[in-house]
Amino acid sequence: MSTTLLRQIPYGRQSITEADVEAVTKVLGEDFLTQGPHVAEFENAFAKYVGASYAVAVSNGTAALHLAALALGVGPQSKVITTPITFAASGNCVLYCGGQIDFVDVDQGTALIDLEKVKDRLEASPKGTYDGIIPVDFTGHPVHTESLRSLADEHGLWILEDACHAPGGHFTDTQGVIQKCGNGVFAELSIFSFHPVKHIASGEGGMITTNDLDLYEKLLMLRTHGITKDPKRLTREEGGWYHEMQMLGYNYRITDFQCALGHSQLLRADEGLRRRKQIAKIYDEAFEGENLQKMIVEERVSHAYHLYVIKVEHRRNVYDQLRAAGILAQVHYIPMHLHPYYQELGWKKGDLPFAEEYYSKCISLPMFPTLTDDEVDYVISTVKRVVNNA
Ligand SMILES: *Cc1c(COP(=O)(O)O)cnc(C)c1O
Repeated sequence: MSTTLLRQIPYGRQSITEADVEAVTKVLGEDFLTQGPHVAEFENAFAKYVGASYAVAVSNGTAALHLAALALGVGPQSKVITTPITFAASGNCVLYCGGQIDFVDVDQGTALIDLEKVKDRLEASPKGTYDGIIPVDFTGHPVHTESLRSLADEHGLWILEDACHAPGGHFTDTQGVIQKCGNGVFAELSIFSFHPVKHIASGEGGMITTNDLDLYEKLLMLRTHGITKDPKRLTREEGGWYHEMQMLGYNYRITDFQCALGHSQLLRADEGLRRRKQIAKIYDEAFEGENLQKMIVEERVSHAYHLYVIKVEHRRNVYDQLRAAGILAQVHYIPMHLHPYYQELGWKKGDLPFAEEYYSKCISLPMFPTLTDDEVDYVISTVKRVVNNA
């Protein structure tokens, strides 16, 4: 076993093939750099991949969250529930619209939002307190959106699924049907990111998926300044140039060449997912009985393994030792309510004990499709050594 590596191993990274380069280069020579045909091609292929009726490609995952919140009508009166263990954007999108975020603590085994605690919170609150919920398929472990749907219906909430970690992930519902993350069956809207550490890279990029035609049409307008040219939507007719701005939108468009890259990557998504699962299995078996805790994967799910997280004692020391050995492990995430910005809004340490306990121990190990078997072995032997000397 080698103790030195030729390169450092990040926790996640993109892979770019010759086919990707060709796809992008081809678009650079075409008529459109943005708003050309490759946007719709990528949208259609992505919608098909996750099993949703519609997809809207946008400039990044955060823009996808912002537009989704706007389309769902989030405004200054809105209060929305999310998990503290996620990337800041999952909650920030509500604040962008002037609404309020409320955190519900996580399940200790999966670190996903605890649906029992969501239920308790809803039942303890006056009717109409909450407008919606933003669950996150954290690490790639699908949220049980079927149970969440019944709960949401009982209390009149919409569901915006942050599926950034889970393209290709799915769970089996109570009828035995496979439900893919982002398929629009239980959540009104789902969003994805194509940042290079995610499953599919487009540089920057994001996607919103839905089965709701009204939301879809609203999203299309919001993506481009709230402007429409659709004759059936216009209030008057003044000539071929005529268009109307009907709502306050943004420029959250993605370029044609980014979509060509995303689309080319999408064609390999299943292959990448298979490798991620294979690596997770090797880690799972190697860490059995070691001085660390593995995360729980529920029976009915097919995990998409954006992240492979373990929980360890003396995490800071483990992190430093892994870095010193060239393994660029990461921590996902610092609980949202512990960031100074959210603390100024009134949140404090002790408010969400399971999220805080999880954060004190979690560390994300390298997990990406081009990780070699030798690198996986090196990560395993280093982790085993380090957790015993921490
Ligand atoms: C990456 C990510 C986002 C934001 O996506 P960007 O494309 O970086 O804006 C939002 N939520 C989660 C859970 C993410 O992992």
